[in-house]
Amino acid sequence: MLEKTRFYIDGDWVAPATAKPFDVIDPSTEQSVATISLGSAADVDAAVEAAAKAFPAWAATPFAERVALVEKLLKVYVAREADMAEAISKEMGAPIDFALASQTGAGTWHIEAFLDAAKEFTFEEPLNAGDDSEMIVREPVGVCGLITPWNWPMNQVTLKVIPAVLVGCTVVLKPSEIAPLSSMVFAEMMDEAGFPAGVFNLVNGDGPEVGAALTSHDRVDMMSFTGSVRGGEAVGTTAMQAMKRVTLELGGKSPNLIFADLGDDLASAVERGVRHCMNNTGQSCNAPTRMFVEASVFDEAKAVAAKVASDIKIGLSADSGNHIGPLVSQAQYDTMQRYVQIALDEGADLIAGGAGKPDGFETGYFAKPTVFSGVTNDMRIAQEEVFGPLLVMIPFDAEDEAVAMANDSPYGLAAYLNSSDKERIKRVSRQLRAGMISVNGASFAKGSPFGGYKQSGIGREGGLFGLEDFVEIKTIAV
Ligand code: NAD
Repeated sequence: MLEKTRFYIDGDWVAPATAKPFDVIDPSTEQSVATISLGSAADVDAAVEAAAKAFPAWAATPFAERVALVEKLLKVYVAREADMAEAISKEMGAPIDFALASQTGAGTWHIEAFLDAAKEFTFEEPLNAGDDSEMIVREPVGVCGLITPWNWPMNQVTLKVIPAVLVGCTVVLKPSEIAPLSSMVFAEMMDEAGFPAGVFNLVNGDGPEVGAALTSHDRVDMMSFTGSVRGGEAVGTTAMQAMKRVTLELGGKSPNLIFADLGDDLASAVERGVRHCMNNTGQSCNAPTRMFVEASVFDEAKAVAAKVASDIKIGLSADSGNHIGPLVSQAQYDTMQRYVQIALDEGADLIAGGAGKPDGFETGYFAKPTVFSGVTNDMRIAQEEVFGPLLVMIPFDAEDEAVAMANDSPYGLAAYLNSSDKERIKRVSRQLRAGMISVNGASFAKGSPFGGYKQSGIGREGGLFGLEDFVEIKTIAV
């Protein structure tokens, strides 16, 4: 078992102020794979002090030098991608091939996207072209507290650390205590790349103690948080009391609209929707978890969805192959079971999966890919984020009705639209109240903004939009 009890503060691996050992559990085996320490306010103080001390020199470092260090980091990241994939796979249960290609790959993708965006980024420009009597100057916000979840660990860490350090901020990262190992590998990479001491710091710990101490620290200028609405509310409220800058990336219950005009493409659209929902064992904030299907093709769609979900392979995270792994924890497994029961109590029809563990997986937090029809959009199962492999299917008669139901949600992170009608695509995509709309399975390009409306959060991450999050705007009129 790995001993990982130190924190990365001021360029060094240091012992916690008070020892508080905490086991990292492999969700496939339910066995401990590492011991970390949960930190305390004293560790946060040390890390914030290091970041504050490093800030003036780092902010004054020429941009080209900061870019060169991130380029070096990218090389180190790619060279050690197997270590990263193993850490992610062990801590949160992603099957190893998926952990390498998608989970670790997401980090590579974002680092590259920020390096591309850096080429376009301007720190100074005149308010009116050709007239330097008023200049707009972008300056780093300062010391940033970064809090990340366990479900896409490197996706989230790179979306925060890279833009922050590129524009000249210094940071204290608190990764999820459930999945801290990947962030510790990332800290080793930052060290190897040669970032100056104090620019990047890592303190492990839980939300109520370390997360709260970071958020309320008077030398922290900005908080960037990804996680649940409940955590986001806590961070947002505390940050606002001190008027800190804050960005929040929170949950979702994203709609997937499937129109009968797809004709022969109906089955592939339904299959794509089911697979996307179950990807990462349903633990993605942007998962298309509510499938709205035009009534005339609803029965056909139901049959396809039930078959696709039942055929999804399940396997251990250490095994190679194209399967889904377990849920991250006993708590997440219990949540999934609770929602299966809620759906049954609400009168929904189970058409695939259901309660309990899949055959042959008595150990580990494995759940069955589950689909319910007979659902209405006002049911809890259609309104609340489950964060497990659970899809609900709801029929609609008219386009307006589909849009109204899609928008009738406390969330607005992503929405998916499947239609062969170009005018409808234009119309509906503009009516959907969500930050990211994917039409007919289109994927988003590098540097595209990630984030949502309503309770899905405040702000956008990724590319140029992500760099903008970490700067203050100064106006100088001469
Ligand atoms: P969580 O809110 O329980 O934890 C996220 C992080 O916040 C962890 O590091 C945790 O320790 C910390 N935290 C919790 N309470 C806190 C508090 N009071 N103060 C400070 N920090 C606190 O969420 P989770 O279970 O780790 O992740 C799943 C959630 O994250 C889902 O709701 C999912 O939709 C959301 N998510 C959103 C995005 C996005 O970009 N919109 C991406 C991934 C995950």
